Amino acid sequence: MNGTSHEGPVVVTGGAGAIGSYLVRELLAAGREVRVVDNLSGGRRAHLPPDGTEGLSFIVADLKEPARYASAFDGAAELWHFAANTDIRKGSKDPKLDFEDGAVGTYVVLEEARRHDVGRAVYASSSVVYGFPSVFPTPEEYGPLEPQSPYAAAKLAGEALFSAYAYTHGLRSYLFRFANIIGPNMTHGVLFDFFEKLRADPSRLEVLGDGRQSKSYLRTEDCIAAMRLAVERCDRPVNLFNLGTADRTPVREIAEKVVAAHGGTARIEFTGGSQGWVGDVPQQLLAIDRILALGWRPRWSSGEAIDRTIADMIAERRAGA
Ligand code: NAD
Repeated sequence: MNGTSHEGPVVVTGGAGAIGSYLVRELLAAGREVRVVDNLSGGRRAHLPPDGTEGLSFIVADLKEPARYASAFDGAAELWHFAANTDIRKGSKDPKLDFEDGAVGTYVVLEEARRHDVGRAVYASSSVVYGFPSVFPTPEEYGPLEPQSPYAAAKLAGEALFSAYAYTHGLRSYLFRFANIIGPNMTHGVLFDFFEKLRADPSRLEVLGDGRQSKSYLRTEDCIAAMRLAVERCDRPVNLFNLGTADRTPVREIAEKVVAAHGGTARIEFTGGSQGWVGDVPQQLLAIDRILALGWRPRWSSGEAIDRTIADMIAERRAGA
């Protein structure tokens, strides 16, 4: 099996996205060979180092077309699977999107990993698999899992497939249930939405829901550090971790910070209701004891992560990104 050492080529699906592109840079800096597969539906080529960068190859391909990217798996030691529809509201209107990109796409990419005898496979899952939990902070053992959106259902289906491939085909699996991950190069999420709304109309900021939705926000750097640590240290067939911060931030506070960063004059208007949209999980705080026990600590709290990301976004927009 290719994955017996922490060396060898790494396939990163969704590697042109916000989180994937950060991982790619980290792996290249560590001297790993990285092969990115991305259809550029949400990510951008510019998020990655340029063509010709030593150790990096890039294939523009959809997950569901394995013939176009099977060569990326030749001799690969690891798969990091980040590619997915990340527009949850769009998926709620058209469930086929999450079923095809999330559930079917995950099956197709796992098949390539199996066919090529890849040793380890890492999955970007989400806290949304918990549905509306009644226990906070929510531990990994919480159940029953009742997804509230097609996106959440696809994430849970993906977890189940990784588990099945671990026990049936020996593909050691690492499943990470993310809180909200924020950092450079984002093209979705609450901060991105607020910036876009204020760009369109600087006089008002519409906030979906009553502003009391409260969630944990983790910086990309902290997220990737935790994932790499768990992959390095753990060797059960299936290794499952929540990833988030110990605190959470209400949406109202995020709106106020974004408005302040834009000069402080925009009027904040709430659409009302406890959910921002159908499928929104309004309260989220994950128990992170399991990843803390490995020695990981987030460098930034939820509030600090938001401040830092607002500063990144202002810099990106000034640079014309
Ligand atoms: P992103 O949208 O920036 O990245 C997703 C990447 O996948 C994009 O580059 C996109 O072009 C690519 N992609 C989408 N569908 C594809 C397909 N069918 N074939 C090939 N490529 C495809 O999102 P992100 O924030 O970097 O998220 C990365 C992963 O983490 C996703 O799986 C997402 O569901 C998961 N996740 C993210 C968060 C978060 O808060 N950012 C939270 C929970 C889970």
